[in-house]
Amino acid sequence: MDYAMMVHMSPTDRIHPFEKVGLGKAPFRVVGFSVQKYQACYGAPVQPGSSCDFCGTSIMNVFSIQGADGSRFKVGIDCVKKTYDKALHKEALASAREVKRKARTEAREASRAESAKTRREAFVQANPGIEVALACGHEITNDLASKLDIYGSLSTSQVELAFRLHSQTYCPAKRPEVNGKAPIGPRQTIRGRIISVRLHDGYMGTKQLRMTVKVVEQKDDADYVWLCWGTVPREIAGHIPGQDDLRNAVVEFTASLEAGREPHFGLFKRPTKARIVDGVQQ
Ligand SMILES: [Zn+2]
Repeated sequence: MDYAMMVHMSPTDRIHPFEKVGLGKAPFRVVGFSVQKYQACYGAPVQPGSSCDFCGTSIMNVFSIQGADGSRFKVGIDCVKKTYDKALHKEALASAREVKRKARTEAREASRAESAKTRREAFVQANPGIEVALACGHEITNDLASKLDIYGSLSTSQVELAFRLHSQTYCPAKRPEVNGKAPIGPRQTIRGRIISVRLHDGYMGTKQLRMTVKVVEQKDDADYVWLCWGTVPREIAGHIPGQDDLRNAVVEFTASLEAGREPHFGLFKRPTKARIVDGVQQ
């Protein structure tokens, strides 16, 4: 062997095995790791789902390698080891460890979520009405609802709290309710809850949206209730599409009040300055 040839050969000897077989230019880096399995059908043996680009063998633990020239290929850990590229081998092991650790964490979280879901179902069945109570829209019940989703159950005191908040929101302490007297007279501010909305026949075959508003005047001995009825003010009729949407909303408007068929029933006329005070509760 002449000198010229030796000079020519010596760097060749140090060529990275991956580079030697044309997989790309060194240095190489690990850019990914995945476990690839193949199963012909349920119950069939699980087989490696990929193959090594270096030796052609079937592999399950697949390392994606990238060359300095941007080339990409996949190999098994044995071939990484055989290159005596210690840095690459170390990188490969670390990347496999990291990917598997992540997969384990995800599996653990998934099974935790799954068991929380099962526990939640059992809990909801054991506490009838709890879901309705939790949906009352209160900040605290919203918080309890997400706790229930996460942990699958609530403590006894949390359940009691949810029911208490729900009843405070929807069924304020029962007070005697008696018929009050509609304050018949000129223009005044009326505030109450819309208890019904209906289309009525108006002039010349037109339809008019009318509403009944329940006004509660709280006095020491009881709640005095009177009703009034009239055309839905256009300010609020336009706000919410569909007539049913207005039901249960608390409305305030200015109108004059004429006597209705009973003392606790008035007819409001020419309502103005109408606004929804409290949103619609379904
Ligand atoms: Zn291989």
